[in-house]
Order: sequence, then structure tokens, then C-alpha cells
Amino acid sequence: MAKKHVKAIFPGSFDPITNGHLDVINRGIKLFDEVIVAVGRSPIKNPLFTPEERVEMIAELVSDIPSVSVESFDGLTVEYAAKRGADAILRGLRSLTDVQYEFKLAMTNRAVAGIETVFVMTSEEYGFTSSTLIREVALLGGNVSNLIPENVYKRLQERLKKVTRDP
Ligand code: ADP
Repeated sequence: MAKKHVKAIFPGSFDPITNGHLDVINRGIKLFDEVIVAVGRSPIKNPLFTPEERVEMIAELVSDIPSVSVESFDGLTVEYAAKRGADAILRGLRSLTDVQYEFKLAMTNRAVAGIETVFVMTSEEYGFTSSTLIREVALLGGNVSNLIPENVYKRLQERLKKVTRDP
């Protein structure tokens, strides 16, 4: 019997993608034949990048990993997962606080759509990295260069110049 091609989606806001997210992707490709990074288009608080910009930055980072692709999606994650024929949802865990939130999310997704969520623990070094904090620290002038990939850092600097010029 042919081996099943196991596919996961890795959904999130990715505003912007961080080294922590990349760590999750790199762990995910060891478990799945295919990982689709799925940028949610639903509105978030104080976004810095458009969904298109977020997809572009991620595409630059994963272009050399054949089993990873990136796209954006509207609406429910589980509906998108079904549309893509995904076997699982991939999510990352940093802390017990994440576990509490992710547990509820995973249970709800399983209850409404029967889809399993697979969690990977992040590297210790990225345990405190979050897009929200990166946006906040960067807006206040802090140096976040060791928490995000270089292409993202460049775009972030350009974006911050614009934000501080025309707030
Ligand atoms: P959301 O808005 O859905 O929380 P995010 O883009 O913030 O989306 O995160 C997507 C997924 O990546 C979530 O499972 C989140 O827990 C995980 N994640 C975010 N940052 C890290 C990190 N530093 N290490 C491991 N997982 C992370």
C-alpha cells in the first residue's frame, strides 16, 4: 500500500513571522510530508503588515523548503483545513499560558470538525518571542533583530519609518 501523504496547515496571524514560528515550521516538516503556512486574513489588533505582505515575507523564507508553502485564508481555520485536505493543524507551544489557550482551541476545532491538532514545543531561546511583543517593542524603538529573520527586520524598519513619519 502506498504511504499516505500527510499534510498539515500551520495557521496564525504571523504579523510578522518570527524566529519562533520558523522553529515550529522546521520541526513540523520532520513530522509531515507537507506543511502549508496559513496566514489568517481576519482582522487583528493594531496590525503592522497586510496579509499580502506577511505572505510575501514568509514565501521569501520558505522558498528553499520544497515541502512548505504559504497562502492566506479567510474565515474559519477548520473550513480552510478541510478545503486543503489537511490531516492536522500544526501549532507551537511556548508556555503553560499557551497550553491553556491552545487546549481550548484544539478541543473546539476537534469538536466542530473532527480535526486533530499537533503541537510542537519551541526551542527555549524562542520561548518568549511573540509577534505582538515584537510589534510593541519595535514601535517603541527597541532592537528586535535577534528575534526575527533578516528580511522581516528590514521590512519592519521600513514600516516603522513610515508609521513614525505619518502616524
Ligand atoms: P495566533 O494569532 O493564531 O496566535 P500567531 O501568528 O501569533 O497566531 O501564532 C501562530 C502559532 O505559532 C501559534 O500556535 C503560536 O502559539 C505559535 N507561536 C508563536 N510564537 C511562537 C514561538 N516563539 N515559539 C513557538 N510557537 C510560537
